[in-house]
Amino acid sequence: SPVALFDAANPAATPAWFREAAESMQLGTAVAVRLEADGQVVGMVAAGAVARGRLGAEALHLLTSVAGPLAMIIERARVVTSLREQTQRTRAVLDILAALGPRESIEEVAGPIAEALRAMYSADHCAVSALDDGLATLVGIDSDIAPWEPGHTVEVAKLLGPVPPAGTVVHVFANLAAAGEEIPEISAVARDNGLRSSMRVLVGTPAEPLGLVTVGACQPGRYTEADARQLAQIVQPLAVAIAYFRGQQEAERRTGRLETTNRILTRLSAGGTPEHLARGFLAECRHLFDARHGAVLTFDAGLRTGRHLAIDTTVASVAEGMELPLEQLHAARLIRHAAPQIIADVRFEPALHARHHRLIAAGLHSVIRAPLVVHDTVRGAVSLWAEGTGRFTVEDAELLGTLTRPLALALEKAAALESLGESELKYRSLVAQAEEMIFLFDSVTHRLLDANNFTARALGYEPHELTNLRIDDIATLTPEELATSLATTLSDGELHISDSQFRRKDGSLIDVDVVESLVAYGGRQAILVLARDVSERKALMRQLVQSQKMDSLGAMAGAVAHDFNNLLTTILGFAGLLKRSPNMDAEERENLALIEDAARRAADLTGRLLSFSRGGLVRFGRVDLRTVVEDTMSLAEPTLHASIATTVSLPEASVHVEGDAGQLQQALTNIVLNARDAMPEGGSIAISLAVEGPVAVVTIADNGPGMDEETRMRIFEPFYTTKPAGSGTGLGMAITYGIIQGHHGDIAVESQPGVGTTFTISLPLYHDNEPGGPADMFNAGEGNLVLVVDDDAMVRRTTTATLAELGYNVVEAPGGATAVEIVRARPDRFSVVLLDLVMPGMTGSETFRALTAIRPDLPVVVCTGYAADSHIDTDVKRRIAGLVQKPFTAERLARALEAAGARPTRRR
Ligand code: ADP
Ligand code: MG
Repeated sequence: SPVALFDAANPAATPAWFREAAESMQLGTAVAVRLEADGQVVGMVAAGAVARGRLGAEALHLLTSVAGPLAMIIERARVVTSLREQTQRTRAVLDILAALGPRESIEEVAGPIAEALRAMYSADHCAVSALDDGLATLVGIDSDIAPWEPGHTVEVAKLLGPVPPAGTVVHVFANLAAAGEEIPEISAVARDNGLRSSMRVLVGTPAEPLGLVTVGACQPGRYTEADARQLAQIVQPLAVAIAYFRGQQEAERRTGRLETTNRILTRLSAGGTPEHLARGFLAECRHLFDARHGAVLTFDAGLRTGRHLAIDTTVASVAEGMELPLEQLHAARLIRHAAPQIIADVRFEPALHARHHRLIAAGLHSVIRAPLVVHDTVRGAVSLWAEGTGRFTVEDAELLGTLTRPLALALEKAAALESLGESELKYRSLVAQAEEMIFLFDSVTHRLLDANNFTARALGYEPHELTNLRIDDIATLTPEELATSLATTLSDGELHISDSQFRRKDGSLIDVDVVESLVAYGGRQAILVLARDVSERKALMRQLVQSQKMDSLGAMAGAVAHDFNNLLTTILGFAGLLKRSPNMDAEERENLALIEDAARRAADLTGRLLSFSRGGLVRFGRVDLRTVVEDTMSLAEPTLHASIATTVSLPEASVHVEGDAGQLQQALTNIVLNARDAMPEGGSIAISLAVEGPVAVVTIADNGPGMDEETRMRIFEPFYTTKPAGSGTGLGMAITYGIIQGHHGDIAVESQPGVGTTFTISLPLYHDNEPGGPADMFNAGEGNLVLVVDDDAMVRRTTTATLAELGYNVVEAPGGATAVEIVRARPDRFSVVLLDLVMPGMTGSETFRALTAIRPDLPVVVCTGYAADSHIDTDVKRRIAGLVQKPFTAERLARALEAAGARPTRRR
């Protein structure tokens, strides 16, 4: 019972929760009422007198009547306090999101965040590390006690301690000095430097940790578990940045490797003596694999000896041309097992030779080697030595294996040519058949002397036209650049130019990799050019790098926004409830407005991040693209200045695609507005729609200033902008990209500086062969209950409270299974279901199907903080009665429910 009466004459009659208090105050009589809110005890109100018999039923009645309002006030005070904490958190998160803007490196992001966190927790130390492959690299630090600089790397175990964390909170130490031996190694160093309080949290999840953040103070007892949990939530947006820069590094490394590989292949096809080929190959490989010693060996036909064809080294060990018995060559093992080998520590190899000891003494302990195989026999080997142990990976071995195949063939060809005494005939047929451009030009007159057929084909000329050309007609270099490159070839005998371009007869350009070498031709100096067309490969590579980057970014943005939106739903929900409370003073109201404002801004940002991650929450249906284009232009036109002319060309018939009209319109609008921004002096924008086979194609072209290569390549990156600070967010094109991806379409951009920019969007046409057409008839029925299904208890509580305010009667379910049970028991009692999409156990889509199987006309409004496409199935998308994006306000919720046919049972 929540009431108690105390009489000193008969204490045993008083319930235990009050007896002790009354007795300790030596009261004669006393009465008490427990204060409860939401079924939880939040306090107690009591009155007592020294004299016996002074208080009775009347006093108890009075207390009981004030208990209700008192409990409410206490509960409200508690909510306000928790809101204050949440505002603080929201501010910190906004700071962090701001730091995620256009930055060049993870250090530029993490540095300011470390400073912000240190200030926020009044700490003496804050450090941010990025985790990769068992190593933690310090990327941001603001500390008075730690001696480390960004870039400092340690094993992750030294930060985590022996036991891997189960949640995002790694540990909280109230007093490091008293913590004993079990503290992680790095924390012990910090302790020796004076740190006492420390909390450390994970960025990402325990299963996929991306970073660590540590906050510490010299005073003991500063941080609690709750502080650490808060910190863990605040730093989650960092996951986006870490994943992004990690992806970018990887992409750069791959691009570098592809380029070198490409160069090696070009060099090999240029031909030359075996020694020359092997030397060129080694020089590139040493660079590619970051090795300090490399050798190419050939074995004699009887497999008794091996010769060092070429050596490229920083440590003299053996001379080129030196011949050794196979027993002394480790690489001879490749004869029995013809596949690349990785030796993590060569010191454990048996039968080391004196020259091996010289290399080992220089610190080279890692070795990788691959066989040179021609017609299934091992003819030689390539080996590379690098500093330290365990330096080479399986990927390295595969790459070396790939590169040695063409080397083996080139060596074979070169040896054959040598032994033939450079038979003119052989040479001719080789050149004629080559699938590469091979031509000769005069070093003085620049006139082409000879060329193979492939040159004519690649450049778009008839073979007989070529000898009328000069190198200046083909190369895109300026006369000065051409003169310099010729001078180099003349003096060095050879020149390699990657990243070059040739001009075709029709004026178009192709990307080429070029090797020039000096040759004697009929008594004069001529230059032999070997060039391969790499346009296609370059384009592919750019696409690959771009899509990799966008993918990792999208996934992380989606994940962060999901958690963040649940938090914002709670904040906005409670703020909305409080706002309607009558007894609030002016200052409280002002604070509340601040909270709401901060939360809205945060919601706006996550909303934009989400639309990038996969085009936001999409309600799929049949959309006529003609209407989308028309609406886009009629909305955009008033914002265009008079000096911009627009043309719209549309087909006669409708063009149906599957998707969300609002989103598609936003995608097009972003492009049109960019075109406007690019042409402040005026110009024209042409938008057209056409059907090409199974796809609808929208092109939007402007004749503005266009973009340089760098901008064109980065245009879809979030936060990439060339506009002055304050006027561009760099999110427009990222969102457009996300939306088109979300619609299973493609977007491409072509641009030439000074000419203009054209965007081409293609979207698959609508097919009406999937099950479950649009459910246009919902029946809110006789029922008046709203069923709220959400796994997050806080979100459920706010939603229910908000709905109650709006006049709805609510039933809650913490998951799909419970929801199905509830609906099955009384299918007709519900007017609408509010369904969260991402839940453990039964997913939103599964729950949807189970619920509508019970009652097909039950309106279901989907509500989610996520937007990834995978979370909602296409057939479900078509059949939902509406959707609300978290975080939602009371107004939006009300609108969505009314649109679904539900009506409140009580008036507000
Ligand atoms: P924002 O408009 O905020 O800068 P966007 O993602 O919309 O961000 O665009 C990124 C950048 O792409 C712009 O800053 C601009 O440099 C370039 N850009 C986009 N469209 C055009 C265009 N039609 N002409 C020239 N540059 C463009
Ligand atoms: Mg823009």
